[in-house]
Amino acid sequence: MTPPGLLTALLALVPVLSPPPAPPEGADATAEARRRMVEHQIRDRGIADPAVLRAMGEVPRHLFVPPALVRHAYDDRPLPIGHGQTISQPYIVALMAEMLRLPPRGARVLEIGTGSGYHAAVLAGIAEEVYTVEIIPALALTASARLRELGYKNVRVRDGDGYHGWEEHAPFDGIVVTAAAAHIPPPLIEQLKEGGRMAIPVGSVFFAQYLMLVEKRDGRVTTERVIPVRFVPLTGGPPR
Ligand code: SAH
Repeated sequence: MTPPGLLTALLALVPVLSPPPAPPEGADATAEARRRMVEHQIRDRGIADPAVLRAMGEVPRHLFVPPALVRHAYDDRPLPIGHGQTISQPYIVALMAEMLRLPPRGARVLEIGTGSGYHAAVLAGIAEEVYTVEIIPALALTASARLRELGYKNVRVRDGDGYHGWEEHAPFDGIVVTAAAAHIPPPLIEQLKEGGRMAIPVGSVFFAQYLMLVEKRDGRVTTERVIPVRFVPLTGGPPR
């Protein structure tokens, strides 16, 4: 027989020895993956804008990737989304959003290249109104339905050629182009507000591409190279 003292001692050990409760599947598990993504892929690389960090920590990226890739949703890389297109690496999404330096209230943003809708969802957490244009109708349709289901009420998706922007809603405080252009489309410069900023990858798909920062100040347009990048090509373009 076990002496009663020993039994008590053993029982007292039970809570210490048992493993910590497993995190519940679902929301909490992905919240932890997002937290790590924000810390290690984004904050550690120098992104400091609190609105951007918050939005990146909130958007459920795993709901924007194909089902077979859900376990890679928070990896430090782009992922295929079908039709030969990709959802950008989380860091690049954060960097482009930060580059816009949007006003804290009332910002209106244009995105060219909706793809999965992920980048638009991140922008929706930072801006008041988001307009996004996608040239592949099937992607525009899926992204639009997904954003609606997830409750993003301040995003409007249109299928069409984003080279020409979205004139009815111009001018924009910020524009992000998520496909690489051979040159900066003049209509996008026109649709940028005075004091507005645009983040756009420029270059060829086969050679170098740079993420460029375009600013419109006192009617003048300046451009600056930020980092080398790799994006799918911007298709479409003139005529119109
Ligand atoms: N922002 C997207 C990434 C999409 S990849 C996301 O978060 O998932 C780039 C997208 O740009 C592709 O879906 C591609 O079809 C689209 N695209 C390419 N050229 C375009 C154009 N001229 N107008 C609008 N979309 C374009």
